Amino acid sequence: MKVKLAKTAGFCMGVRRAMEIVLTEVNKGTQPLYTFGPLIHNRQVSALLETKGVKAIDHIEGLHDGTIVIRAHGIPPSERRRIKSSGLRIRDATCPRVAGVQAIISSHTKQGYHAVIVGDKDHPEVMGLMGYAHGKARAIKSAEEVAQLPRMKKLFVVAQTTQAEKNFKEVVKAIRDRFPEALIFDTICDATYSRQAEVRAFSGHVDGLVVVGGYNSGNTQRLVQISRETGIPTFHVETEKELAREELAAMEVVGVTAGASTPNWMIKSILREIEGIQSRTETVLGRWIIGVVRSLLLSNVVVAAGAFALAYAAAILSGRRADIIYPSLAFFYVYAMHVLNRFLDKGASAYNDPEVAKFYRKYRTFLVLSGIVSIITALALSYYLGLGVFFAMAGLNLLGIVYSIPLVPEGVRHLWEYSRIKDIPGSKTLSEALAWGVVIVLLPLLGSQRIGLLAALAAFIFVFCMTYIRSALFDIFQEQGDLIVGVETLPITLGEERTLLLLKGVAVFSGICLIAAPLSGASGPFAYLLLLCVLSAALCLMAYERKWLHAGRRFEALVEGNFFLAGLLGLIWQLYT
Ligand code: SF4
Repeated sequence: MKVKLAKTAGFCMGVRRAMEIVLTEVNKGTQPLYTFGPLIHNRQVSALLETKGVKAIDHIEGLHDGTIVIRAHGIPPSERRRIKSSGLRIRDATCPRVAGVQAIISSHTKQGYHAVIVGDKDHPEVMGLMGYAHGKARAIKSAEEVAQLPRMKKLFVVAQTTQAEKNFKEVVKAIRDRFPEALIFDTICDATYSRQAEVRAFSGHVDGLVVVGGYNSGNTQRLVQISRETGIPTFHVETEKELAREELAAMEVVGVTAGASTPNWMIKSILREIEGIQSRTETVLGRWIIGVVRSLLLSNVVVAAGAFALAYAAAILSGRRADIIYPSLAFFYVYAMHVLNRFLDKGASAYNDPEVAKFYRKYRTFLVLSGIVSIITALALSYYLGLGVFFAMAGLNLLGIVYSIPLVPEGVRHLWEYSRIKDIPGSKTLSEALAWGVVIVLLPLLGSQRIGLLAALAAFIFVFCMTYIRSALFDIFQEQGDLIVGVETLPITLGEERTLLLLKGVAVFSGICLIAAPLSGASGPFAYLLLLCVLSAALCLMAYERKWLHAGRRFEALVEGNFFLAGLLGLIWQLYT
């Protein structure tokens, strides 16, 4: 069965921002911590926040101490004043786009206009908007209600940001017929527009559409409604348990979209479940092959094989004939570190990738044992390569362990908030890239391989940059889970946009070094060939930024593919030179 995931599925900017604000407070240990009403309309997210000590309250009577987060929908100004005077500290997570609508309403009603808000009057966003209208606003749901509006001389129309486009247009038409002078502000959010347009675009291309999101989420309900209007068989589910497996099994192509308040981990769980449903047209062999490829990806064999390929290419770049011993060393080291660190990720996998979490639970013993065997093999291999290599490898393994354990005694943590190296913002990406660089380029130097220092530097920069881009891009894919468990990765510290900018800079720097290396005599012309890998990494960044691909198993395979491309280029170079 083919599954098509909508590019717009999942958190919109406003919801993501609200989640980041509340989780940042959670990770700082802020207590007591409240949200004014549920932060977003999603029961699973509300339950998660509750387990983190975040209480959703609908009144502030009796509260004078603590922090309250105002949700993305915003609140009326009168409510805000009451909270301020109560002594509670406010963290405002009102979506900037909602704040924009509030500003339109406030300024126009001050000028004597009356506001007509197209939306659900009981929705928190509309209730908040009404509060900015100085008593001069009405909320209507449909074009039929326009006839019931009183006569008004000056009026303007705005929309609840998640309104259905069609309904808003119908209301606007009815308003224009009755009030030709009315000012119209189309305040439907871009995120809503594109999400709804994508659902319409699914028509004719999928046999059915699964819409994931809270049953009480207005924007999810509208996606369901739009999908049904286009005639696509539509299934609204909150969790994977509610999937109509029988009906889906009869379909060849299934679309999946999700409301703006649906977290990634729920979308991924649904995707995994749908992909697990055996379509009537699939062969047993086809499913077996897919299963094997998945297992290799999940178990980190693919990333370890990528390290092998990268080491092979780096050997040629640093001016020596590639063998398979050092690449094998890289394979075992990377496999062991990735597998064993997965068990120390504080449960982030459960949110970032439920399939990985399930896989690691199921094969825990085998994976731990294979990780330990890999470390022993890497140590044995490095011993064979010389004492210098052995001690360096042992040191790297030790660092891998020290990286995750608390080093700062509890009594002095107020002086230095990062008790472990991994708590230092951005340390994960940097240490991973450095470790790969050391294993792939510096260990052969210690192993008395004849390598020029400049050639080694060129190879180190190439390996470091490629690994840095891979690691940070994966951190972007896993931002939600890392934020939930409080891991300070690069995208969490810098934000997604700045991280992508930084990665583009890293790609450009790597490209410049690859061009400069042969020109300066540091490396041979093979460096020019490796520019293809840099180009491919840059394309991955662009594909993510422009949403050509969604973060999923295929994208991950594509990113890992850069390393295999390097290895393949190395092999071709070896064969023909
Ligand atoms: S749908 Fe748009 S307006 Fe509403 S919270 Fe999301 S980004 Fe903000």
